[in-house]
Amino acid sequence: MKITFLGTGTSQGIPIIGSTHPVCLSDNPKDKRLRVSVLVEWDNFTYVVDCGPDFRQQMLNAKVNKIDGVIFTHEHADHTMGLDDIRPFFFRQGDIDLYAHKRVFKALEKRFDYIFTTQPKYPGVPSVTKHLIKNKPFKAGNIEVIPVDGLHHKLQVFGFRFKDFAYLTDMKTVPDEEVEKLGNLEVLVVNALREEPHMSHFNLEEALAFINKVKPKRAYLTHISHHMGFHDDVQQKLPDNVFLAYDNLQITI
Ligand SMILES: [Zn+2]
Repeated sequence: MKITFLGTGTSQGIPIIGSTHPVCLSDNPKDKRLRVSVLVEWDNFTYVVDCGPDFRQQMLNAKVNKIDGVIFTHEHADHTMGLDDIRPFFFRQGDIDLYAHKRVFKALEKRFDYIFTTQPKYPGVPSVTKHLIKNKPFKAGNIEVIPVDGLHHKLQVFGFRFKDFAYLTDMKTVPDEEVEKLGNLEVLVVNALREEPHMSHFNLEEALAFINKVKPKRAYLTHISHHMGFHDDVQQKLPDNVFLAYDNLQITI
């Protein structure tokens, strides 16, 4: 299985427009972060988790020419607003499979009414096939993906386990019975916004405590704010098996 970190930034991305914060001004490519998303590939299958406003650039960066589906964690704008850019895939492949909680589909149907309409469409508008996710395993390609249910402040959000890889973003609370789904992982990806506590995201301390509880072989942190600091400084402070993810990082499991 190959994982590509398409984006590892929090909602505004890094650099933030107009910001003079030192991290936003950094020349290190590892300090430049598009909105959070990950590409998961195995056998001949390619799935993307979330489809934020940087989706087009991310597909170009990772040279993706086919996707088998988009799997949504939740409906926030930084995770959904690139949906229109599935068009090139739609033109080549036909209807694109989307996987999401029914509440997330409701939000998408409102924002992208022209995609979901049952009326005749304007030429060039993409079509999608909806797959509702509940908190039970669902099929993606030739494997079962296991949803992991958590809370992003008060909003329900799904993380996903693909074989020995799990991807959890925008989590603040994960109940113990959901943590149990994360045994024996090769790689866990989890959100860590910054050092300061935050209402709806794990901060660094909470993310490290969560990693300690799950005990994957390796863990990567994502959904990072400029307030976390420079990549190279933060990486030095982390335990041996924990890494600060950065855009375009690829790992093989
Ligand atoms: Zn987010």
